[in-house]
Amino acid sequence: MTESTQVSRSDFDRVMVPNYSPVDMIPVRGAGARVWDQQGREYVDLAGGIAVNALGHAHPALVEALTEQAGKLWHVSNVLTNEPALRLASKLIAATFADKVFFANSGGEANEAAFKLARRRAHDVVGPQKHEIIACTNSFHGRTLFTVSVGGQPKYSEGFGPAIEGISHVPYNDIDALRATISERTCAVVIEPIQGEGGVILASDEYLKAVRQLCDEHDALLIFDEVQTGMGRTGKLFAYMHSGVQPDILTSAKSLGGGFPIAAMLTTDRIARHFGVGTHGSTYGGNPLGCAVAERVLDIVNTSEVLEGVTERNKLLVDGLMAIAADLDVFESVRGRGLLIGAVLSPSWKGQARQIQEAAQREGLLVLQAGPDVVRLAPSLIISTQDIHEALERLRTALSALVG
Ligand code: PLP
Repeated sequence: MTESTQVSRSDFDRVMVPNYSPVDMIPVRGAGARVWDQQGREYVDLAGGIAVNALGHAHPALVEALTEQAGKLWHVSNVLTNEPALRLASKLIAATFADKVFFANSGGEANEAAFKLARRRAHDVVGPQKHEIIACTNSFHGRTLFTVSVGGQPKYSEGFGPAIEGISHVPYNDIDALRATISERTCAVVIEPIQGEGGVILASDEYLKAVRQLCDEHDALLIFDEVQTGMGRTGKLFAYMHSGVQPDILTSAKSLGGGFPIAAMLTTDRIARHFGVGTHGSTYGGNPLGCAVAERVLDIVNTSEVLEGVTERNKLLVDGLMAIAADLDVFESVRGRGLLIGAVLSPSWKGQARQIQEAAQREGLLVLQAGPDVVRLAPSLIISTQDIHEALERLRTALSALVG
């Protein structure tokens, strides 16, 4: 197949493993918060690659960072270290609670590392019996066997043989349930500060504080999965900064590379030392290309201009969604933080998030769902006011057409 060979959506069913069901248009180009498909049709992008394209598409500074590094050094293996990785790690440490960083390529891999590290540390400090991990029902932590086992949505782990053992699930935001389950056998509790895939549901500050206290009482590590909430998405660099509750381990991916695959696990010196030489690794984790791009993303995102802008944009979008809700009665509430927003469908619209996503696409608007009952928005952190207004207009048109 040459580069000029025409491909279309129907080829997907012919050549791809059928684990996805992509919509019928194929995007070929993006700029800022807009993308264009094969036919040249333009869309406003409020999906952001599922909370990934933090600075929109083809941001000039990221294109520059990537191409500059591409001309210098792509890959060297972990037998050697590299300058972009050391710079990025230093900046992440300076900006957070962490003292040490491990780089991976995806959120699932960063969580895999976090869970292994928590078990390894408990094994070293206490013994093999301290291996239990507590997670929340409805949570999502990735698609590896360990992360689907920890994740609180059985549909992702069913049918893949025995799940990893020693994992229990408690309802989110329910401190009594955690208190009843945590024990001296618990090595870690893992929480998403906002359940993203689960429906854009926030953990309360009181809950997070109480979780921290229970973890301390039982010598269990607190892991925050910030794969979806991190890197400015909620209006602070990481969502834990709203509550002031510090984790022992934090995972970041998605927005970290602004669209280039990279993930990170952040932790403290006390814990990092249990991942000694040879205990864990990744061929591509921390490669110069990903780290060069992520360093530039961090430089841009971790500024008051961008972070305060996220909160301003949240207000524009939430006000617009509420105005649509008042006129069309499609949404019963709007929740989330910063630019991770969930519009919860009203009773008569329950189950129709996918239909709304498709209707929006027909009007030139990309949105996401978070389960069947929630329309989710996770746009570029620097989307323009004009793009927001246009997106809201297109959404109103799409929903009006569905109302009939
Ligand atoms: N953790 C959370 C909270 C996520 O939202 C996701 C992806 O949606 C993951 C982990 C998995 O990340 P990845 O798909 O990069 O492996």
